[in-house]
Amino acid sequence: MRVTWADGLLTFRLDLEDQITGKASDEYPVKLATNSCTITDVPDDAHPDLFAVAAWTVVAPWTRKRITFDRAVSARFAQALHDGWGVEAGPVGAEPRAAGGTLAISYSGGADSVAAAAIYPDAPFVHFRRVPHPRVPNRWPHYRSDVLARLAQQTGRPLTTVRSDLEYTLAEPRPGYPEHHAVAAGALLNADRLDLGGLGFGYEIGSRWLGGGRYLHRYTPDNPMWAPHGKWGRLFAAVGVHIVLPVGGVSEAVTMRLALESELAGQVRWCLSGAADGPCRTCAKCLYKELIQAAVERRPLDTPLTAGHPRARKWLCPPPYGGQEMVEYGLARIPGIERTLFAGALDYFDATEESTSWLEHCYPPALAEIPEPWRERATSFMTAEVGLMTEKEIHRVETWGSTG
Ligand SMILES: [Zn+2]
Repeated sequence: MRVTWADGLLTFRLDLEDQITGKASDEYPVKLATNSCTITDVPDDAHPDLFAVAAWTVVAPWTRKRITFDRAVSARFAQALHDGWGVEAGPVGAEPRAAGGTLAISYSGGADSVAAAAIYPDAPFVHFRRVPHPRVPNRWPHYRSDVLARLAQQTGRPLTTVRSDLEYTLAEPRPGYPEHHAVAAGALLNADRLDLGGLGFGYEIGSRWLGGGRYLHRYTPDNPMWAPHGKWGRLFAAVGVHIVLPVGGVSEAVTMRLALESELAGQVRWCLSGAADGPCRTCAKCLYKELIQAAVERRPLDTPLTAGHPRARKWLCPPPYGGQEMVEYGLARIPGIERTLFAGALDYFDATEESTSWLEHCYPPALAEIPEPWRERATSFMTAEVGLMTEKEIHRVETWGSTG
């Protein structure tokens, strides 16, 4: 792979051994659409390792053996890339970048990232905004990145909005991040300007510890994407921008509650297709989040979707589901759930309030892995606002997926 940067334009050329089909770090298959993308609103004099890691978040799935950058990287960066991926990086020659003192939040506006933001009221935000690609047709025109960007602006936090078309480098499964970490590409390029030493993401316990999302549903202490000792954790640390997961120890029930109780509640928006005046209420994400919110608020489900809707079909199939722990939580707590489109899923679980109570507390090892400068704040917040898990609850986390 050969990579060049010019005025925020990233161009990459595949070597003979590279392929346009690859796998993201969560093993999900991805296919390349085009070999360039733009990241605007970024400085052109960032540390070379920052350009390198930002590029790597886009080109990693397609790169097999080596990567050649257009400016020398540090030996520390090259080592981290080799240790994590077995890929040779060069040329080598720069001094490593020292970590800065600031933690920024990679802010999407969803409940998880709002909860992460609530823990650090002074942290600036970096918001990734999707824009069209000049050469790739937009097959997802209902995506309202403009609405999300405007809501981010209304938070009153110091905000850097980075516009990028990098999601269109992906042909399949759809426009999206080649690696989950590509959402951070703009933050990485701004790391010198913002004096970043850490970047906080809204990944919660399901994504960090339970193998949720696109990958296996089992306890994942060595999660390659988000563990500090995983390959991405070490690569980010090598460029002085530590991955920080302020809500990595709590479930989406907790992040939902924290977000709706926070001063940013008015700007929370997880729906990607809803208009300026509110969420669409009918997309898969709206439905899933409504399940969580109704459970947290202990009220009946409020959705226009009925059991006959195509969206309901998924809930007639046996698990595993993405976010399965939250499905169990919802089934156990929502009054009248047996009269909703989730009725079919009740057959697969024996969830009770007691069996799901661990989802209301914080898993302590998640706090221990927050880098020292920001750990105490998260620990005191979680202790006061959420409560730490008991030994028995910790056991539930650490046996997740092993008993079905
Ligand atoms: Zn929606």
